[in-house]
Amino acid sequence: MKKQSNPWGVYRRSGLSLMEVLAVVTLMGIIAMIAVPRLATSGDKPKANSCFATKGMIEVQAELWLRNKGVPPAASLNDIMADNKYFPDGAVVCPVDGSAYRLNTTNMTVNGHTHTDLLD
Ligand SMILES: [Zn+2]
Repeated sequence: MKKQSNPWGVYRRSGLSLMEVLAVVTLMGIIAMIAVPRLATSGDKPKANSCFATKGMIEVQAELWLRNKGVPPAASLNDIMADNKYFPDGAVVCPVDGSAYRLNTTNMTVNGHTHTDLLD
């Protein structure tokens, strides 16, 4: 490689020195240690809260269906989610894991989806 002088009059190869590369790699490592855990966990809690809101919405719509039709919707919710008067945007799934919701037709609540692992 071509040699060049520096202000101290010492000749060295052009390009980055080992110390410069080490300093940059170390800084990148420190930044990654701070940023990656935050990026990895962000989004879980909002998704869990979105799931709870969705459950509430499903329960309200299921109650409305029961009042209008005299019978609860199917436990699989296939009938009510196919009806655009109740779900104009079509079937909804859990924003956390993409699973389908199921209704307990006895007490008209959505089964499961507590997502306690996502809420500290
Ligand atoms: Zn869920």
